Amino acid sequence: MKKIGWILVGASTVAREWMVDAIGQQGDAEVLAVVSRDAARGAAFAEQFGIAASYTDLDAALAHPGADAVYISTTNELHMAQTLQAARAGKHVLCEKPLALNLDDARRMVDGCAEAGVVLGINHHLRNAASHGKVRELIRAGEIGQPLYGRVLHANNLPQHLRGWRLDAPGSGGVTLDMFVHDVDTLRFLLDSEPRHVTACATSGGMTVAGLEEGLMAVIEFDNGALVQVHDAFNAPYSLSGVEIIGTKGTIFATGVMTQRPVGTISLTRDGGSIDIPVEHENLYVRSVRAFQRAMRGEGQPAATGDDGMRALATALAAQQASRSHQRVTLAG
Ligand code: NDP
Repeated sequence: MKKIGWILVGASTVAREWMVDAIGQQGDAEVLAVVSRDAARGAAFAEQFGIAASYTDLDAALAHPGADAVYISTTNELHMAQTLQAARAGKHVLCEKPLALNLDDARRMVDGCAEAGVVLGINHHLRNAASHGKVRELIRAGEIGQPLYGRVLHANNLPQHLRGWRLDAPGSGGVTLDMFVHDVDTLRFLLDSEPRHVTACATSGGMTVAGLEEGLMAVIEFDNGALVQVHDAFNAPYSLSGVEIIGTKGTIFATGVMTQRPVGTISLTRDGGSIDIPVEHENLYVRSVRAFQRAMRGEGQPAATGDDGMRALATALAAQQASRSHQRVTLAG
């Protein structure tokens, strides 16, 4: 059987650290080529991972024999045009978050892929974590009753090698489009509910250029009535990560789970004390690619769809607006 042929668009860190391996681990997939604006960077990337071809021109790469899907991990402002170009060439698209920089572009991407009849998936990796899957399972099983409150601790230290475009490029979106989008996607996944209002405060100008958020504290009000505090930061090296969901009958605390790595622990506290909930961890990105390839074969949806990407983006833009205007922002229904 022919392997699914992938084209990597962007010789990026996330492709290097996670996605080349995640595609390789599928068994029925192979990376055929990488696209980079810089011929030398693309060639070096291809050589490092034993990829047969590298291109500087996306159309040429899309015409590579056997290409079925693209993984787009370029900087954010390029996602929209590259997605539409790939869709028009009949290739399925797994795109990095944030889907785009504004909702009009995101809508164009979702519609363009639908019109072309190709799958659009967004690489919101956290919903692929076994830990978050387990928290969702516990909530759905009624183990904590009705969720009332939540807390997301996602402040960390932007690694030195990522302190480039995230800190100053106009297309960056700061910590809000970089990290908060993931929190929103994860919370929608955990709570099965949609964000309705957002209030937020932000800091900037230490690590980022002035005006571009490097730290964000937000409160999201969900349709089901739950209030969730979210904290993201690029500049908090000693912070711990976690998610807490407090319900009418109990509380779940998942420690160390806001990460790319398949790690973390979960405790469930109810009358009578706390118990540890076992989790069988698996590589999040391997799961993301697996779900995407199944969707390509007509078996279900990608782990996060274009619609999921749009909703996360809409909430992130609302948080940006809230922090900049000091107003509570209501999301469209
Ligand atoms: P990188 O900065 O590593 O790569 C982004 C682009 O920068 C690449 O496409 C590449 O351009 C260019 N580039 C890469 N290395 C260099 C270099 N040494 N010198 C100059 N240019 C370089 O970004 P990330 O991998 O951190 O992020 C890429 C996308 O993935 C973003 O949209 C981000 O939001 C998302 N992301 C998602 C994660 C997830 O877990 N879902 C995790 C991290 C990022 P070219 O294409 O021309 O080669």
